[in-house]
Amino acid sequence: MAIPLASNQNVGMNYDDADEGDDQAEVNLRLFPPLLLLSATTSCWHCKAAFTAVALGAHAIEDDGEAMGEVTETDDMFIIRELDVMPEALLAELTARNPSYRLQHSNTVGGSYYANTCPECDRLTGDFFLHAQPGGAFFPTSTAEAAAIKVERLRFSEPVIVGGSWGYGTGDFILAHAAVVDAP
Ligand SMILES: [Zn+2]
Repeated sequence: MAIPLASNQNVGMNYDDADEGDDQAEVNLRLFPPLLLLSATTSCWHCKAAFTAVALGAHAIEDDGEAMGEVTETDDMFIIRELDVMPEALLAELTARNPSYRLQHSNTVGGSYYANTCPECDRLTGDFFLHAQPGGAFFPTSTAEAAAIKVERLRFSEPVIVGGSWGYGTGDFILAHAAVVDAP
């Protein structure tokens, strides 16, 4: 089944066959349902405007065909970062929560990925800041910060293949305190 991919890059769907050059996004991750859409309010580092940042989580993933977690585990999650290719239907879910979420060049990463972009000044707030810095929108350091994250179960019933990286370590804390709801 051909799933249209939302990307300005020409990529194949075979995630085992992705190393075809530096300019090509690598489709390396398989995310098992339920996919989790995280949203939280953040402040632009540049203009201080508040906006909704989005992120993607999954209880179980494969990276280059290797299982990273148990599919049955639901009290912890991987958080997917630096997404550079994904199905259009998934991108639509993310942009429905943050309309300025889009492909942006990042000097930190040395490439482009779908980044939470400030709707006021157009600068990206990087995934490193949001996910890997304590106190970032998706790196809560208190139960109150974790409870401020909204987690929605998306209605994808099949595994979704994307390109990106992932983090692990904050998911169980987020899920223990955030409100987890089914997406509309
Ligand atoms: Zn801004």
